[in-house]
Amino acid sequence: MSQQGYVAAPPYSQAQPGMGGYQAGFGSGPTQQMYGHYGGQPQTFSAPPTGMMKSPVSSAPGMPPPPVSSQYSPNVQQNGAYPQRYPAPPAVSAAYGQPPQSPYHSMASQAPPPTQQLTNQMGAMNIGNYAPGPMSSPPPPTSSVAQQPFQAAPPAAMGQPPMPPGPQSPHMSPQMPTPQPPQTSMPMAGPPMAGMARPFPGPPPPGPGGFQQPGPGPAGPQGYSQQPGQFGGQMAGPQPGFPGAFPGAANQMAGPPQKKLDPDSIPSITQVIEDDQAKRGGQVYATNLRGQIPPLVTTDFTVQDQGNASPRFIRCTTYSLPCTADLAKQCQVPLAAIIKPFASVPKNEPPLYVVNHGETGPIRCNRCKAYMCPYMQFIDGGRRYQCGFCSCVNEVPVFYFQHLDHMGRRVDFYERPELSLGSYEFSATMDYCKNNKPPSPPAYIFMIDVSYSNIKSGLVKLICDELKTLLDELPREEGAESSTVKVGFVTYNKILHFYNVKSTLAQPQMMVVSDTAEMFVPLLDGFLVNYQESKAVIYNLLDQIPDMFADTNESETVFAPVIQAGVEALKAAECSGKLFIFHSTIPTAEAPGKLKNRDDKKLVNTEKEKMLFQPVKGIYEQLNKECVAQGCCVDLYLFPNQYVDMATMADVPSHTGGSVYKYNNFQVETDGEHFLRDLKKDVEKSICFDAIMRVRTNTGFRATDFFGAIHMNNTTDVEMAALDCDKAVTVEFKHDDALSEEAGALIQCALLYTSVSGQRRLRVHNISLNCSSQLSELYKSCETDALINFFAKSAYRAILNQPLKNVREILVNQTAHMLACYRKNCASPSAASQLILPDAMKVFPVYMNSLMKTAPLVGSTELSTDERAHQRLAVMAMGVEDTQLLLYPRLIPLHNMDFGSEAVPAPVRCSEERLTDGGMFLLENGHSMFLWLGQASPPDLIQGVFNLPSLSHLQTHMSTLPELDNPNSKKLRSIINALLDQRPNSMKLQIVRQKDKPEMLFRQFLVEDKGLYGGASYMDFLCYVHREIRQLLT
Ligand SMILES: [Zn+2]
Repeated sequence: MSQQGYVAAPPYSQAQPGMGGYQAGFGSGPTQQMYGHYGGQPQTFSAPPTGMMKSPVSSAPGMPPPPVSSQYSPNVQQNGAYPQRYPAPPAVSAAYGQPPQSPYHSMASQAPPPTQQLTNQMGAMNIGNYAPGPMSSPPPPTSSVAQQPFQAAPPAAMGQPPMPPGPQSPHMSPQMPTPQPPQTSMPMAGPPMAGMARPFPGPPPPGPGGFQQPGPGPAGPQGYSQQPGQFGGQMAGPQPGFPGAFPGAANQMAGPPQKKLDPDSIPSITQVIEDDQAKRGGQVYATNLRGQIPPLVTTDFTVQDQGNASPRFIRCTTYSLPCTADLAKQCQVPLAAIIKPFASVPKNEPPLYVVNHGETGPIRCNRCKAYMCPYMQFIDGGRRYQCGFCSCVNEVPVFYFQHLDHMGRRVDFYERPELSLGSYEFSATMDYCKNNKPPSPPAYIFMIDVSYSNIKSGLVKLICDELKTLLDELPREEGAESSTVKVGFVTYNKILHFYNVKSTLAQPQMMVVSDTAEMFVPLLDGFLVNYQESKAVIYNLLDQIPDMFADTNESETVFAPVIQAGVEALKAAECSGKLFIFHSTIPTAEAPGKLKNRDDKKLVNTEKEKMLFQPVKGIYEQLNKECVAQGCCVDLYLFPNQYVDMATMADVPSHTGGSVYKYNNFQVETDGEHFLRDLKKDVEKSICFDAIMRVRTNTGFRATDFFGAIHMNNTTDVEMAALDCDKAVTVEFKHDDALSEEAGALIQCALLYTSVSGQRRLRVHNISLNCSSQLSELYKSCETDALINFFAKSAYRAILNQPLKNVREILVNQTAHMLACYRKNCASPSAASQLILPDAMKVFPVYMNSLMKTAPLVGSTELSTDERAHQRLAVMAMGVEDTQLLLYPRLIPLHNMDFGSEAVPAPVRCSEERLTDGGMFLLENGHSMFLWLGQASPPDLIQGVFNLPSLSHLQTHMSTLPELDNPNSKKLRSIINALLDQRPNSMKLQIVRQKDKPEMLFRQFLVEDKGLYGGASYMDFLCYVHREIRQLLT
């Protein structure tokens, strides 16, 4: 059954004053994506009513179509011109540590939003109204009648099962009310609500929990029972056993067990993904419209840059910002962009153009230093231009002068990427280079821990053997024949060994540094070399290393001196680069950065739990700064058998654009392939070095916070020793003035970096968003996947400084608040018992609940401290695709595969209910991969995949499938290989049989179910949030 039970009412039948107006043909139907209108001439856009991808105007092949004249015109009235102000709520802040306060008591007197509203109602979320009987059938009409006193208008789809938008299936139509006429008023705080005698109890008490009111007072059971017969008895409350993870949950949970809702009736992520793929998959997404919402990250589409950056580079939490800070505070929807400046683009999309503005460097605004881009408006016959960001009028340099056409656009518009495209690069001049010298190509230094455990496990030999072939794949400039990246080698335990691998040597030479307190590099010439030139010597070295240390007894290691050695070597060579450190144990040898076991499970669920996530300060902090200053990225490969103080060891990688890979209890046979896949991806991936990023905006708002594997010396410059194609920086924005609907919101992200061949370049990404004084515009322009990326990062940062309980409370509060604000301001009136979610956020609660059940946030002594710290740091640098998949794994049924099709079977919801005894499922989340086998798996399937007569013969510790020549085996292996190719990281295949003990590992990823280590099921969470919303609204 379709999950899209939303009634999109009312239709866009009347243009709103001041909104630019929609075309007549655009009027009906639940279209939401297309509202990218520009100031004065909206009619010029021939936006199709439902299609998304068509270029509005034809153009020469490969070139952007001519946009209308007003397309990028900055509006002179952009600052503070918008007259409409909303009453200011009391200080509301989503910041952790400052409990959010509810602005609701000030909203009662607020004028209702004007006529046009798109109220995507979740008609089917009629939680309070399921009468006994089959859950999937419509309730008897009487249940609607019971709600009449609380309804200002007939409820939309009251009590209906989910319905697809558009034509309804016939059997549902009798109960389906006709679309509501446009609402002219929405008495959210008016008669119906006032009649409920539940005045808002005033400002919340101080302290965590914000506007939630646990304990005595109007909240809780007392408040609940004020409407006996209406809601109380029928409210499907959370199930018994609902964990007390949420504030105030305990006393509210009391009461008779509730009838369980049909799980199919609550919004489904898999359905949302499928629907978007069906609607927008395989199409071209042209970026010509301001504020348009891209397809989901999970959808396959092709991007055509027509003036805004591809969603591969920038995704936003909403594509329509509220005009004022007051509105932003009122809804508490975070305003953020997730920027992946170096994202990979598929082969069928062109790489970025490189623009050269000559010796004077890229043309920039004199005042705000924004780079030339489509948002600069040329005036005065082309002699001057007005900056779209700060409105400063600049002279056009003589060499750059060009005449304007009759529409005021430069006649060379299409020849210049910086005028017509959202993303492009500039070649940088000496001014943009360190010390005014052109940079050298970067270097990769491989640093191998040769202490006892790594030798014994066979890891050292595995690495040395692999490097011989891997180094042929070092990253190179687009189109270049070979890589200019230099390589160097270090081995270490308590002391460090450097190797001279100069091409003229017959044998490599080792130089030992045993004074780790004063680290220096004992050789310059011959340490960093060109791999192709020194191949013979390097082969020789890699062959010798495992033998040289074969008899070692040394079990102690140093760590900080290893990083120090690497950064010193890069300093000496005057280049940037990356350290690949392969390390096994906590560094206990007497040396700077020595660590001790400070794991303490007693801290879990206490005020001091944050200490488990905080790194040890001192030398590691110092190394962060030194590495970033040198452009030295650190990638750490850890092979621990016990606690290693991940929080501290990963500190440098997580500030230098690096990654941390962890292989617990590493064994070559079962983990070797998995590790080598990671290493190969890491060495080969596209990357840049010594990067500094600046995010500029037009007047009215600005970037205020940054999350990522970054370092910041001031409040504006994001420094990254390196930035690869998988790393993202999440940027939060705040208002500092009003934004205007006419000018919109403009963002320019400029990344200055050194390429793998040592060229200094500037990469510029521009995106323009809409602005609106209507919150409904914001809600329908939200992107849930981007929102959850922001929430994950901000929560994971918050737990460094706050008790986890507070952080979880704030997450729940903010979720309820955002949804309550939608309901109050944007949705059509309906019974309080209905949960109404904005269409664009309908699966937000699933993700939020999943986030709260992740290892860093869940607070369980059963989880490894290192594991929690590792996940926390990994998420900080993730892009939207990665957090989406992490928080909602793919669960793919394999027992009914279509062998005639290349396609991967459609995933099902992540819940135990979807598993079947006779089934076989693949689950992956980008980091873990499981093959789950039902107890009653058909013998022919087991035979086909494993070449075994039955499940009982299966050795589940295997991590690869045998290569068998039958359709089941081939298809399954091709699915697994395709997934491993797509993801930034490798995953180890774990095979689990239903009811075997290791099945627990698998079940923790069924994120719609109750958490294994605490945390609610999706259904319970939804009920809880619904109750919070109702409290907020009464
Ligand atoms: Zn400017």
